[in-house]
Amino acid sequence: MNYQDVLKEIHDEIKPLLGKGQVADYIPALAKIDPMQFAMSITCNDGSTYNIGSVEEKFSIQSISKVFSFTIALSIYRKELWKRVGREPSGNPFNSLVQLEYEAGKPRNPFINAGALVISDTIISHHGSSDKAFKEIFSFIKDSSDNENIEVDMHVADSEMANSHRNRALSNLMKSFGNLDNEVDDVIQSYFKQCSISMNTKELSRAVLYLANSGTDPITNKGFLNPSQAKRINSVMLTCGHYDASGDFAYRVGLPGKSGVGGGIVAVVPGKMSIAVFSPALNEQGNSLVGTKALELFTTKTGLSIF
Ligand code: GLN
Repeated sequence: MNYQDVLKEIHDEIKPLLGKGQVADYIPALAKIDPMQFAMSITCNDGSTYNIGSVEEKFSIQSISKVFSFTIALSIYRKELWKRVGREPSGNPFNSLVQLEYEAGKPRNPFINAGALVISDTIISHHGSSDKAFKEIFSFIKDSSDNENIEVDMHVADSEMANSHRNRALSNLMKSFGNLDNEVDDVIQSYFKQCSISMNTKELSRAVLYLANSGTDPITNKGFLNPSQAKRINSVMLTCGHYDASGDFAYRVGLPGKSGVGGGIVAVVPGKMSIAVFSPALNEQGNSLVGTKALELFTTKTGLSIF
């Protein structure tokens, strides 16, 4: 199959949808992004790559960073991790507080904000400080993308910090239930920095390639997870990677995927390739509207869903 031709067809077909949806506006740094952008990159396990659109454009990876922090925490804590966070879809928005209250401070999964905050907390406890935890996440991403030139957009990080009320509320609520060991400030600092990492679709598709090859990067042969752990990350991406639209994403795309409010989505075709797509305007659940459509077209055209 000629993937470059497939990308070209997708690009043509999504054009009428560009601009539909709404860019994230909870922080000024994201609100000013041009909604008309589109990029899609594929990195195959054999090292071949296919790209279309503004693939050099770096954007805020936001919640896609939760894939990497979850990977790190699972490899450190293994089964113990599930005492602190669940692995069920939440059926609620990514930053919702209500469920957390009646479920006694244990977040449903590592991909909603509350879950990612607990994951940050566990990495801080393991490494000793918020700075060291962030450095671990940052260096993991450089390692898995085999690229030293990944950057953090401190303008976005500062903007997140200045608008942190809801994430602080989630953290405080968990702290009140005894499910946060470190100080709220330390936890949200490391969390916001990981959300503020900037990457383009080429870099992102490369960074998650280990998930398409049972936890080992097929190009460098670096091992990040064992096959069973990689299966688990992919499974949680399939069931929880798109918040309260996870069912819809699985129904339409049929691949493990993770979105971020910066407009990026990564998806994994186990045994074959990883894909990253970027288009900043979001649907009502905070996932890239055109990005979701592009991935749906991809699996429809290629038959490469997991089902
Ligand atoms: N920084 C965002 C937040 O915490 C990330 C959310 C997302 O990408 N869904 O609200």
